[in-house]
Amino acid sequence: MEVEEKIFTKDFTKKINGLFIDPKIFTFKFSCKCTGECCHYGVYTDLKEHDMILNKKESFIDSFDDSQSRDVNKWFEPPEEDEDFESGVAVGTEVINGKCTFLDKNGLCALQKMADSEGVHKWEYKPLYCILFPLTIYEGALTIDDEHIERLKTCNEDNDVKTSIFDWCKEELIYFLGKDGHKELENYKEEYLRTFYSGDKQ
Ligand code: SF4
Ligand code: SF4
Repeated sequence: MEVEEKIFTKDFTKKINGLFIDPKIFTFKFSCKCTGECCHYGVYTDLKEHDMILNKKESFIDSFDDSQSRDVNKWFEPPEEDEDFESGVAVGTEVINGKCTFLDKNGLCALQKMADSEGVHKWEYKPLYCILFPLTIYEGALTIDDEHIERLKTCNEDNDVKTSIFDWCKEELIYFLGKDGHKELENYKEEYLRTFYSGDKQ
């Protein structure tokens, strides 16, 4: 992990809440016509999130439609070690009928639907990597999920818009970093862009 961090994060100087920040999030222009397409490939959950979902499986199943499997043994891939996850173990959700096992045929996530119906925060049961996308955490850095973006049709880099991926994800970043962390990120953005536009950075 230490070696990999050095390769990917070698040019990153800013850390917030223990994570390096990839400054490309400030300059990468992004737009998305939400079709739920980002959920068509499943997601990696943290082991703790996986366990929470299984503990509440009956409630989630209640909101499933006929495009979703009620067999919990079909919901997840085998766990794998991954240091970018809090518990050190990631568990991927399976793809069923061309979409994440939790996505219904109307493009809605069962985990978020249940949160809405319970009146708790909309992301209470949602895996962190779902909340963060089009951002992600990779080798100890908050960065852009280029790999996933590249295979999508409706969520893309878009140099015709002014909105950066940082702007696009404001609510998610506040949720993830807290208000203070987000403020620190905003300050870093101002500092970074001043240098960027003065031509000192590529
Ligand atoms: S990235 Fe966000 S806006 Fe785009 S399809 Fe996914 S949920 Fe919708
Ligand atoms: S868990 Fe929900 S938000 Fe995450 S990929 Fe699956 S359907 Fe989408």
